[in-house]
Amino acid sequence: LQKNLESSETSKPTFSFEFFVPKTTQGVQNLYDRMDRMYQTRPQFIDITWNAGGKLSQLSTDLVSTSQSVLGLETCMHLTCTNMPVQLIDDALARAYESGCQNILALRGDPPVTTGEWKQCEGGFAYAKDLVCYIRQKYGDHFDIGVAGYPEGHPEEEATPQLIQYLKEKVDAGANFIITQMFYDADIFIEWCRQVRQAGIDVPIIPGIMPITTYAAFMRRADWCKIKIPDEFMTKLDAVKDDDQAVREVGTGLIAGMCQKLLKSGYVTHLHMYTMNLEKASMMILDKLGLLTEEDDIFRDEVVPMPWRKSL
Ligand code: FAD
Repeated sequence: LQKNLESSETSKPTFSFEFFVPKTTQGVQNLYDRMDRMYQTRPQFIDITWNAGGKLSQLSTDLVSTSQSVLGLETCMHLTCTNMPVQLIDDALARAYESGCQNILALRGDPPVTTGEWKQCEGGFAYAKDLVCYIRQKYGDHFDIGVAGYPEGHPEEEATPQLIQYLKEKVDAGANFIITQMFYDADIFIEWCRQVRQAGIDVPIIPGIMPITTYAAFMRRADWCKIKIPDEFMTKLDAVKDDDQAVREVGTGLIAGMCQKLLKSGYVTHLHMYTMNLEKASMMILDKLGLLTEEDDIFRDEVVPMPWRKSL
């Protein structure tokens, strides 16, 4: 994955899609259909989230395995180490390995909503960096390993310089790309990237892009992640807040504008879309940015191998 990201530096910006694990069998089938359709747009990879504590772990690894080895999508598996026995981590890594998956996003995980308490299992890991070390020790360079970055702080640590130091520890432990928490203020993100580079972290930084689907979801997510909403976003969205269609259109313009600013900054060549398992909003943004594949190009897939495949 890192090679693919680096090789895209001189060409057209690339993008990827994040999906979460649905709770029902019907939901899983719908997701496979959506992944298949969305893949026609040639994302550089897709990733599958992990339920902290390993709940639904079987379903997560099934999804990773099917998307990588059956659907043939370059897949990144999220893996957390909170409240989870090492055996479960071993099983997940082994299944990812067997399916041909080569990308892991190594995370600590949030505490379970029920207890709200973070717990280190006996013999388990305290931080994401421990999981990064473990994967490197066990699998060498087989996996590209990503870690989470927080341009606007983390609920347990607001200070940016301290968080950047922790981020550096994760990269020094062997991570080779960073995916960030969502944000709406491009200037904050760009300044954070500057500080990350100044700290000597030189792996690709991938911004997490959250589309705006409804006004309520937009406000809820910003509050949940404690991120700043720029005045322009507030004014424009407030004016149309009762009209979902208008919110989506205005939101598309705002997020596409933010992405253009990120791409111009020179720190970013790839956009990671938090799809929330929905198609339309992400597509509208990519379309506005001119990043969607032309219909004629889709047929090239049959004869031309995917340009981002690691084995190429
Ligand atoms: P860490 O980097 O280990 O940091 C955890 C906390 O410990 C931070 O407050 C940090 O400041 C502190 N810390 C780190 N190192 C040290 C140290 N050496 N000494 C003292 N304190 C330290 N959650 C899920 O459950 N499933 C997912 O699939 C998922 N995907 C995510 C994807 C992205 C892109 C992002 C940004 C987050 C995702 N999360 C996911 C949420 C994530 O699990 C939480 O934010 C979690 O609270 C922190 O995880 P981390 O990997 O950043 O942890």
